[in-house]
Amino acid sequence: MNANETSLRLKVLGTRGSVPVEGKEFARYGGATSCYKVTAGDDEIYLDAGSGIVNALPAPTARITILLTHMHLDHLIGLPFFIALTDRDRPIDIYAADRAGLAPKEAIDRLIANPFWPCKIEDYPANVTFHALPEEFFIGDVKIDTAEGSHPKGSTLYRLTRRGKSIVHATDFEHNPTACAALSEFAAGSDVLLYDAQYTAAEYERYRGYGHSTPQEGIRIAEAAGVKELLFVHHAPMRNDAALDALQAEFSAGKFAAAGDEITL
Ligand SMILES: [Zn+2]
Ligand SMILES: [Zn+2]
Repeated sequence: MNANETSLRLKVLGTRGSVPVEGKEFARYGGATSCYKVTAGDDEIYLDAGSGIVNALPAPTARITILLTHMHLDHLIGLPFFIALTDRDRPIDIYAADRAGLAPKEAIDRLIANPFWPCKIEDYPANVTFHALPEEFFIGDVKIDTAEGSHPKGSTLYRLTRRGKSIVHATDFEHNPTACAALSEFAAGSDVLLYDAQYTAAEYERYRGYGHSTPQEGIRIAEAAGVKELLFVHHAPMRNDAALDALQAEFSAGKFAAAGDEITL
């Protein structure tokens, strides 16, 4: 497949849930928190800005957009360290829904500011623009559809479509019949579904209401939606490589995402 025929290219930069971890027992799946890069022609679209965004090497001429699901720390903690912020006048567009009554910039200004951090986002050399979140919009020729997921204080579902191929990001999503039916419809016929599978079914019983899901529910939704490729994401921080391998052997209908994984559509 040559570059001109490529529709969307997904790269996993970090897929750990809740908090970054490190150590050789986490080396294969990776310890950095949520960040996925989708390349579409000249556009680089980053799904969340967890510590995985520190691993990003943006192309010098790429147009950069960040689509945030929500403002929880594990999805935002890499943003102050995103290398593109140090490029003078480089445009960076950030989209996010209002959370807890705060517009995206108001929320980020609470974290990236003194005393937590020595400067604000507008003090970086890059030109950052914050956008409210429409239900649908375009980034270049990539169509973006958004919907509300199922998470304490909310998390946005994104569907990216280009040249007939689609990737759906559904992290920090807790299953319930209404939310699953809505996600099945939202993800219908998509090529790749990134699905929050932080818990095993047994763990889920202890963590009901924390806003995460299981591989079993991901498989059910992917089947209902006719998804071609299912990626389990947002791995529990204590889940080492051996434990993830064991889950992978049990749930072969999906792939437990690992940092560095790439899918080209
Ligand atoms: Zn999270
Ligand atoms: Zn969250």
